[in-house]
Amino acid sequence: MRHLVWFRTDLRVADNPALYEAAADGTEVEAVYIDCPGQWQEHGKSAMQRDFLSRNLQALNEQLAQLGIPLTVLTVDTFAEVPGLLARWLEERTFDALYANREIGIDERRRDKAVQQILPIPCRVYNGDCVVDHGSLITRGGDMFKVFTPFAKSWLARLSAGGYRLLPMPAALGEPLPFKPPNLSGERVSSEAWPAGEAAAAERLTQFCQLSLRDYGERRDFPADDGTSSLSPYLALGIMSPNQCLAAIEAELEQLPFSRGEPGFAWLNELIWREFYRHLLVAFPRLSMGRAFKPDTEALPWSRDDEGFRVWCEGQTGYPIVDAAMRCLKQTGWMHNRLRMIVASFLTKDLHIDWRRGEAWFMSCLIDGELAANNGGWQWAAGTGADAAPYFRVFNPTTQGERFDAEGDFIRRWLPELTEVPARMIHAPHDWLDNQSPGHGYPKPMVDHGRARLHAIAMFDALKDRE
Ligand code: FAD
Repeated sequence: MRHLVWFRTDLRVADNPALYEAAADGTEVEAVYIDCPGQWQEHGKSAMQRDFLSRNLQALNEQLAQLGIPLTVLTVDTFAEVPGLLARWLEERTFDALYANREIGIDERRRDKAVQQILPIPCRVYNGDCVVDHGSLITRGGDMFKVFTPFAKSWLARLSAGGYRLLPMPAALGEPLPFKPPNLSGERVSSEAWPAGEAAAAERLTQFCQLSLRDYGERRDFPADDGTSSLSPYLALGIMSPNQCLAAIEAELEQLPFSRGEPGFAWLNELIWREFYRHLLVAFPRLSMGRAFKPDTEALPWSRDDEGFRVWCEGQTGYPIVDAAMRCLKQTGWMHNRLRMIVASFLTKDLHIDWRRGEAWFMSCLIDGELAANNGGWQWAAGTGADAAPYFRVFNPTTQGERFDAEGDFIRRWLPELTEVPARMIHAPHDWLDNQSPGHGYPKPMVDHGRARLHAIAMFDALKDRE
């Protein structure tokens, strides 16, 4: 028997169901990765994530070579060409079955369906990206949950009853092979700040659990603090699995936390949010197609202010916490969750610009860009999504800064023009700057938040009037 494993967003050898099952009983295994640079562009993904992907593919190749599993990297432009390419490639080789872990976006699902229809061998597909498989948690009425809290309750009940399955990496299937690094073409921006490979990811996970898991709930909202795991780039490309996160929590706390208030629960809860958005993406394909979760919100009259959008992207809004966050994103490809919520609220509720433009900008910058979480986060902030922030709750960018960056440490890191501003003035620095530092160049607030907030609420009220 010979099996082919098709790696996609699961670039790891440990806890990889497709690889594990393919290699069971010492079956001979080969691996393939299909790069689609045109698809990457069509999905608007970042050049930094592409660099991270390339480096992690090399790390995976090295791991597979140690196990005696050869990896071939094939290239075609888009998903549409994948079925034909695979079929032709397989004509010259003999495999008994193809193994892969499921991908959840609509384009990926269509590609996989086409592959299954064209290939002469069975395709075995596994859940490798969620602790609880998509579609297996449903309401009494048989539908996907549309609200997070009951979903989380059901998710925890499933975990409590059935536990989770952590798979080891397969035993070596042959002598180590010579290592040939694969290289991906296309525009790349260095991702060197993030060490590549599953060993690096595992080390970061262990360190986070030892140092920060217990007080994550108290520290996670403060961007100047290093209180979150920074594991999102690894989870987004499947270099780490959520089961591995659970195992690390258990190793640190000796048991999993099942209720609010228990140490570690706050972090587990974020992993459940991750699964909620992934389950939603599978249940509601329109989320992969740029459509709002709440169909009535498609009628919102979003502003077409291109200049306002540019100013937001550049971090020149005149609201320091927003500007610091946006400049951090552009330079590092990563942004703290609290800041993602603040800048998303600012774009949609203060500038009244369509959440889809913000979602696309994020995708083009983020090293952890991932359709389900990005779409979920944007629709939550815009008030168009499942279990979204109520439309009348509009983040005040000044008081958010005061609460979550009280001393202005994060702001000063990213806005050199505010370095000298004292903490009590840092969130509204304009009078101080005008007096103490004429010619400072920091812009005045581009909108009046109070008025912009009322306009956002009126936009949503008008929707109700249409009903
Ligand atoms: P931690 O706080 O340590 O959380 C652990 C893991 O849980 C994260 O790595 C992530 O995989 C998951 N997670 C945490 N919070 C969320 C959440 N709210 N929704 C879904 N999963 C979550 N996350 C992405 O991975 N990719 C994105 O493209 C993305 N876009 C976002 C856009 C917006 C507008 C918002 C509000 C949130 C977005 N998030 C996204 C979710 C969240 O901001 C990041 O996952 C988090 O900041 C990553 O930092 P961390 O790894 O230190 O997270």
